[in-house]
Amino acid sequence: MSALETIRSDLSGTTGTRFTVVLGDITRLSVDAIVNAANSSLLGGGGVDGAIHRAAGPDLVAECRMLKGCKIGQAKITKGYRLPARHVIHTVGPLWNGGANGEDELLAGCYSNSLGLAREHGLRTIAFPAISTGIYRFPATPAAGIATRIAVAESADGAFGEIIFCCFGDEMAGLYDRLLPEALAGA
Ligand code: ADP
Repeated sequence: MSALETIRSDLSGTTGTRFTVVLGDITRLSVDAIVNAANSSLLGGGGVDGAIHRAAGPDLVAECRMLKGCKIGQAKITKGYRLPARHVIHTVGPLWNGGANGEDELLAGCYSNSLGLAREHGLRTIAFPAISTGIYRFPATPAAGIATRIAVAESADGAFGEIIFCCFGDEMAGLYDRLLPEALAGA
């Protein structure tokens, strides 16, 4: 990790998984997989998706084209190309539409299906952005609650060495700093 990325919280779960909150740019992280908050075309977009495609180079969109899209709450995997991360797990978050349209379950699916794919591929260090909290307008507090709870639950089998919550702003990082210990305590 470069000096531009700051580690905030650094906690351990009961099965030895390390959970960290990092403030910085996810495209700079040297991990087994970074997760992309993609759209259902998987062909690139704005926000973190655009940043990942720019940093990975054109081979990423070429591989994505072969995947024929992805449903909301599901996940698909590619190589990382020019990224320091070995793989990209592309997941499609829900667009916030008031909260009574299955948004929580779909967002939970993004985290559990991304980690399920990572587990299948033997990937042990995974970094997530705050899926759906940008262009898709999911409120940050419930989104961070879901992210931390699902990550802690999915790591119960000891499959993961480190799960990173990569936050792009100080406010989001502060929220994860607060919610991560609660998720680890089973609150
Ligand atoms: P979505 O469409 O799922 O809302 P966005 O990319 O608009 O996706 O935003 C998701 C989150 O990713 C936001 O909290 C945004 O601040 C953050 N983000 C944007 N660029 C980066 C980046 N380079 N690294 C990490 N997080 C990022």
